[in-house]
Amino acid sequence: MKFTRPMANPPLFLVFLGPPGSGKGTQARLLHERIGLPHVSTGDLFRHHLKNNTPLGLLARQYMDRGELVPDGVTVDMVADRLAQSDAACGAILDGFPRNLAQVVALEAMLADRGGVSLAPLFAVSDEEVMRRITGRRTCRLCGAIYHIEFNPPKQPGVCDADGGELYQRDDDRPETVEKRLYVYYKQTAPLIGYYFAKGVLAEIDGTQPPEAVQAALLQVLTDRGLLARMPVPAAVTG
Ligand code: ADP
Ligand code: ADP
Repeated sequence: MKFTRPMANPPLFLVFLGPPGSGKGTQARLLHERIGLPHVSTGDLFRHHLKNNTPLGLLARQYMDRGELVPDGVTVDMVADRLAQSDAACGAILDGFPRNLAQVVALEAMLADRGGVSLAPLFAVSDEEVMRRITGRRTCRLCGAIYHIEFNPPKQPGVCDADGGELYQRDDDRPETVEKRLYVYYKQTAPLIGYYFAKGVLAEIDGTQPPEAVQAALLQVLTDRGLLARMPVPAAVTG
């Protein structure tokens, strides 16, 4: 008979759920700064490939421009490579992955001996709010920092506060593409909510509050479920 020792400190994998524009990237960046868990955004990874004109970037672009999902095979391979990197040994914040049930199954296989998904926070906002947020979103070309022309403006219009990089509007953030992305979200990604609920790891968070309040609610859920204690960098929840 084979005995396996229980892991002393199992890694922490979080799956951020919510429609496009619900604040997943904003919250993932804040949480990464706070607790050091790597932020793995499939959208950011594809945009990085696109910027470098790699074959994967050129392939992904065709789908991103239409507001459709990039094929599962290349997406899953890209995530598997990322999660095999040493900084993800302690876990990761998954932002934008999985996005359909086939990707859920692939993630389960990747995490089979790493403790699985510990928490799936769902950032709940209305479609009207999504439209307001996405059409005003601006992103730094250098560091990917996320701004909003009205809700989170940079100190100087068009310039990133952190590194002076140019702020741009993503091609897929134009209203026609956003409608398609929302349709794809409801059809392919929203069913994941029921899946993670049934697994007992779903946590719905009111995403309409200001970003700091959403982050506080997220940290509270992590604390309540005893998940922050697993982090390599201990996080103080108050203050
Ligand atoms: P948002 O943050 O607004 O939801 P993302 O940056 O996550 O947008 O994604 C942008 C685009 O990248 C998606 O519309 C899709 O084309 C592609 N994409 C991102 N993640 C995935 C994924 N897990 N599977 C397939 N395509 C993806
Ligand atoms: P997602 O990653 O889910 O697509 P983002 O984090 O990129 O969402 O946020 C989309 C837009 O909404 C950005 O312009 C961001 O600055 C803004 N935003 C994010 N969170 C909030 C919030 N709690 N209140 C108001 N605006 C927000």
